[in-house]
Amino acid sequence: MTPTSTALKQIQTFLATEKKMLLNGQWCAGQKGEILPAINPATEDIIGRFYAGGTGDVQVAIDAAHNSFHDKRWRNKTPAEKARILWRLADLIEEHGDRLALLETLDGGKPYQAARQGEIPMAAESFRYYAGWCTKISGRTSDISIPGDFHCYSRREPVGVVGLITPWNGPLVMAAWKLAPALAAGCSVILKPSEVTSLSTLYLAELIVEAGIPDGVVNIVPGPGATVGATLVNSPLVHKVSFTGSTQTGKSLVQAAMGNLKKLTLELGGKSPVIVYKDADLAKAIPGIAGGIFGNAGQVCVAGSRLFAAPEIYDDLLSGLIDYAQNITVGDGVNPETTMGPLISEAHRARVAGYVAKGLAQGATLATGGTALDRKGYFMTPTILTDVTPGNCVAAEEIFGPVLSVMKIDHMDHVIAAANATDFGLAGSVWTRDISTAHKTVADIRAGLMWINCHGIPDMAIPFGGYNQSGWGREGGPEGIEYYTELKSVVTAL
Ligand code: ADP
Repeated sequence: MTPTSTALKQIQTFLATEKKMLLNGQWCAGQKGEILPAINPATEDIIGRFYAGGTGDVQVAIDAAHNSFHDKRWRNKTPAEKARILWRLADLIEEHGDRLALLETLDGGKPYQAARQGEIPMAAESFRYYAGWCTKISGRTSDISIPGDFHCYSRREPVGVVGLITPWNGPLVMAAWKLAPALAAGCSVILKPSEVTSLSTLYLAELIVEAGIPDGVVNIVPGPGATVGATLVNSPLVHKVSFTGSTQTGKSLVQAAMGNLKKLTLELGGKSPVIVYKDADLAKAIPGIAGGIFGNAGQVCVAGSRLFAAPEIYDDLLSGLIDYAQNITVGDGVNPETTMGPLISEAHRARVAGYVAKGLAQGATLATGGTALDRKGYFMTPTILTDVTPGNCVAAEEIFGPVLSVMKIDHMDHVIAAANATDFGLAGSVWTRDISTAHKTVADIRAGLMWINCHGIPDMAIPFGGYNQSGWGREGGPEGIEYYTELKSVVTAL
């Protein structure tokens, strides 16, 4: 699948001017007029430029969100009206799908087909899913036992002004996962995309205006985390921040929120185990496991990065995975034959390569990959490390790259303890034909999302979030909307 020539022309037009931020319904260059480049990681070319906000711009955005929340221009729309507008936004995302997918490829390096058939429908469906929830948010009545005549009920109210901070690895989908429930709940928002991949969010901003979301309800301020992000977290006018990013930055948000105790939802890092029993269907497991670690070049928080395989099938599984990895076509995501794109930046590739080197120094063996491509772009070959012991850095730390750490295990009785020996707890997968083994294993793994005989299947209907240091709270599902609400109880003496 290749981008159409029409989409290419349309995106050239979009990128011909510096993209502005959206403050109170206006396109603004920002108080300092600072401009950042957008770099294509496959070519190292600057493909566009955008204005980066500073603390003053964030303040304007916060005031706009605050005013729009307090005059209720969005939250007092009927649930059905809100639902119709969110649905319209979903339709617009689909209508502009070729262009949005192309931006994800050019700005973030994703293979175009993955962006067009994965990210775009997922973003649109996120708005449709939560459009459906607008009409279903409700409280309940409670009969109380205090003597007298009382009528008691609860109300689910929007939490207020929310800051949404997204990472670079899936900008459009992450924006949708946060915006859709926040808007369905009636919140006003300030969205800060990663300064590394801001373009698709700035394109989405245009669709948000076109869909008819009132001015000031969604404000979009790209820029650095240390200024734009930190101002959101520090502001007493922001009631909640929903953040997706690294565990390290998540911890700094917790520190920053100490003073004002604002609510935080944190979707952080992972080191997801992949557990393969001897009765697994290897013909399905091999592509599934490879997709779980090499998809988006491993730059996915749920990447299945630690493999535990039963000794009986270890050799067959490993040789199948090596073969699969060596047949992945690494290249520019606009080429239809590409199945794995580049890493996001030179610095990130150096970081991933550093992990591989350190892992080898700590006793791992290189089964395949581990090299950069000798061409422009931040490419790295799919990498498999074997003989990885629990103390090795490639077993313990999130690499966020196409690196699978294969952990030898002498008996599957030990697999639960080995898989749970991590600071993280985001996701994992189990591969077996035995339903009892499958369900017992998923129950024992400390992680927020487990897959059986598949890995990395997302859907907005599924609550998603982490145990341990993988985060706080959940996104997705009915629970996802609750994190954008406050619960108020009302006691009436009749
Ligand atoms: P990564 O860049 O590895 O995805 P980060 O956690 O550094 O992970 O970044 C995720 C998002 O958090 C980005 O939008 C980034 O700009 C933002 N960010 C970084 N540092 C801070 C901070 N101190 N406060 C708020 N947001 C931040």
